[in-house]
Order: sequence, then C-alpha cells, then structure tokens
Amino acid sequence: MYKRLVMAFVVICLFTSPYQTFAEEKLSEEQIHTKRMELFQKAEALTQIPWYYLAAVDQYERSLRFARKDREKPTSLISIHMDQEKWVGPLNPNLEDENPKTITLFQGVGRDGDYDGKASLKNDEDILTAFTDYVLTYGIDRDNFKLALWNYYKRDKTVSIIMGNAKIYKQYGTIHLNQKAFPLPLRFNYSYRNTWGDARGWGGRRIHEGTDLFADYGVPVRATSYGIIEMKGWNRYGGWRIGIRDINNTYHYFAHLSGFAKDLQVGQVVEPGMLIGGVGSSGYGPPGTSGKFPPHLHYGMYKDNGYTEWSFDPYPHLRMWERQERMKSRKR
Ligand SMILES: [Zn+2]
Repeated sequence: MYKRLVMAFVVICLFTSPYQTFAEEKLSEEQIHTKRMELFQKAEALTQIPWYYLAAVDQYERSLRFARKDREKPTSLISIHMDQEKWVGPLNPNLEDENPKTITLFQGVGRDGDYDGKASLKNDEDILTAFTDYVLTYGIDRDNFKLALWNYYKRDKTVSIIMGNAKIYKQYGTIHLNQKAFPLPLRFNYSYRNTWGDARGWGGRRIHEGTDLFADYGVPVRATSYGIIEMKGWNRYGGWRIGIRDINNTYHYFAHLSGFAKDLQVGQVVEPGMLIGGVGSSGYGPPGTSGKFPPHLHYGMYKDNGYTEWSFDPYPHLRMWERQERMKSRKR
C-alpha cells in the first residue's frame, strides 16, 4: 500500500511541471505576477537582459492575444508568440519537432530553456530563452535592444509601445500595475451617460468615439491608469488634449481640456489618479478656441492590435472605475 502511494506521488510529480499548473489552479493575479516576475528575473540573471525589457515585450504580446482573433488567449505565464514554422526551422519537415538538436540543424529559433530535453512552444522558459537568444544576437543595451525589436516587429509604433512599457516597469520595479482611477475626483459634480457611437456634426459627419463627462471649468482631470503620455497638444476637434497609452496597450484620449498640469510632457510616466489637466470646452476651431459647447471631458479609449487602432466604448469602464473608487473610499 505504502509503495503504491509513493509511486503515485512520483508519477504526479513527474507530470506536473510548475508551469502546467497555471491553467488548472486558479492563481490570483498577484500570484501570477509573482511567478511571471521570477521567470524574467531568472532570464536576466542568465543573460543580463534587464527584466523590464522582457516584461515589456511579454506584456505587449499579451495585449495582442486579447486584441486579435488569430492568436490564442493566454494559457501560460509568458505570452510571447512564436511561429511554429520558425520555431522548428523553415525546412524542417516535422512541424511538431521538439528535439533541440534537429531544430538547431534546421536553424529553428526553438530552444530548450529549462533543460528538460525538449524545445517546446508550450514551455514558458523555452519561449523566453528563444527570445533572449534572439536579443543577444544584437546586444543588451538600449539601442541594440530597440534595433532587435525593430527587426522583430518591423513597426515603429510597436517599438515605442514596448519601450514605454519598459520605462513604466523600470520606474515602479514591479509588473503588478493594474490599478485604475476614475478620471474626475468623485467629490466634484459631474454627469455622464452612454453616447458612444452617436452622430457628431461639427467638421463633417463623424461618430462619437467616447464618453462626455460634463463638469465645471477647471475640475481636475486625472490619469486613469499606469501609462505613458504619448501625445499632448492642440487639435481642432479635441482642443487641448492628452493621449496616454496604458500598460495593456490601450490608448486613453482626454479632450477639450482647459489646460494641462504643470510640467507634463510627452514620454512621461503617469499613474492612476495623477493630475493631468482641467475640464474645459476647448476645440472646434484654431488653437485657443473655447466655449463653443458646455465644458466637459471627452474621454475615449482605443485598442491597438499591432496593425491598426480602433475606438471602443469607454462607458462600462468608467462606470466600473467609479464604482471601485466609491467602494474604496467607503472602506477608509
Ligand atoms: Zn465627446
């Protein structure tokens, strides 16, 4: 009996690698972040590539998995996607090949990162190692890393999104940055309803790509997430406006502002609740035009899938952030 139990235990241990448990066990978001961070730090120890570079690429690729139908939803800790054909080598007749020797022979990018004798697309450490090996062919300093990214993705915007992620991760020293904030402080008077997709007349026929939050002139406008200021300036539709790309590759657009927070600049890291400007009614004309409509914050959200960007309805998110913040302030 005892022997059988021991055997059963050995068998269980053999077939449960720590990374396969991800799907079965329900890990909390924080536990997932901790385990993921361990993988990045291990890779950094082995390669000297800063963990936040690896985290930044992985996070960008995770956003693509949610935004694209041709990618599987994340099923493990690492989301970096690799083509099966490139993994095994372009001339490899065996698309399922997991043998590191034949993969190398056919010049595949597949690697055996955890030394289990297999180079598997289902293994987080194998994928990370394949990616770090690619980066190492360029170099680990910022310029070489950017060059490696450019050759990998062939898209300037992708390079800048990933470098933005890296800057945020480096600054906070963690990847656990999912906190959000409502764009207006709840203690002020404001009102909003769902008008996403409504027709808008000024400047030709357009649809309304956002939610309008009506409030008085000068009511503080705040960043809703961790992110990077990607754009700041005037546009004849939006007036004084700010664009922030968050850590999930969602672009947040704040328009018709009365002005900007002091010293705010493009490329700067922001965090949820940080003051970025004030509610106004700027826009619908040349720079400085104001008062053509009641003061409000136009808040838009856009998703990027690695090729293009599209608007989606921010209203449900605003409601959720407002609710979360109200609950938090009650607890205090
Ligand atoms: Zn609007």
